[in-house]
Amino acid sequence: MSIGRVIVALLAGGLAFMAAGIVLYGQPAHAASPREREVPEFQYTSHAATVAASTRTIPLYVDSDFDQGERQHIVAAFRQWNYVLNGFIRFDGRLLPGDASKTEVESIRRNGGWVVARVDSSHPVAQKGVGIHALAVTVSGGRNGGFVYVIADRLGGRDLTGVVMHEFGHVLGAGHDNSGLMAPVYNPVASRCIDYAAVAMVAQAQHLSMRDLNWCETPRSNQPFQNQYQPRAALSQVR
Ligand SMILES: [Zn+2]
Repeated sequence: MSIGRVIVALLAGGLAFMAAGIVLYGQPAHAASPREREVPEFQYTSHAATVAASTRTIPLYVDSDFDQGERQHIVAAFRQWNYVLNGFIRFDGRLLPGDASKTEVESIRRNGGWVVARVDSSHPVAQKGVGIHALAVTVSGGRNGGFVYVIADRLGGRDLTGVVMHEFGHVLGAGHDNSGLMAPVYNPVASRCIDYAAVAMVAQAQHLSMRDLNWCETPRSNQPFQNQYQPRAALSQVR
């Protein structure tokens, strides 16, 4: 199937979300949106790019099984990455229609798109290997897009924005770190923003200069969050 036909199908199913999405992610991540007023403990640097940014777009197709509130968390997550990436790489979010066929989804992936899928713990990806204890799993198809599975019934009260922001770090080529956003274990404080170390891993993977990028500077709270821990995981590839 041609990508053109897929796009037609996507437009038919995704128009409402796309219209809302423009308002949601048409502004810089540091603007005072209601979402960000909830978490005033961090702020991002505001470096201008030292060279003209040539934008590489990563299409992000959000499963329509996510409800409106969940979609806004996902939008908040990629907006922060877009801000950090300063125009060099940009996530372009769309809604994946509920009736998208396997062929269409595979076509999206082959064309470099990523699908954010809402699954529960009975899904095969949650039943094996690193997925057994994961909140979300990122499965990359190499240079050809991939899948971010959110295991929704394991989220409990955890912040979906932080969980997905971590997975988007994997989408951008980051591995795991001992602390911060890219730590393999969920931490609600570290998951609030994209720290220097997370950006540095992406910069290395994407051959970008840190001088051109932004990151959050966090007066970190020392509060313990002892009841919040649960591993997350990333698989490196499918097929
Ligand atoms: Zn991870």
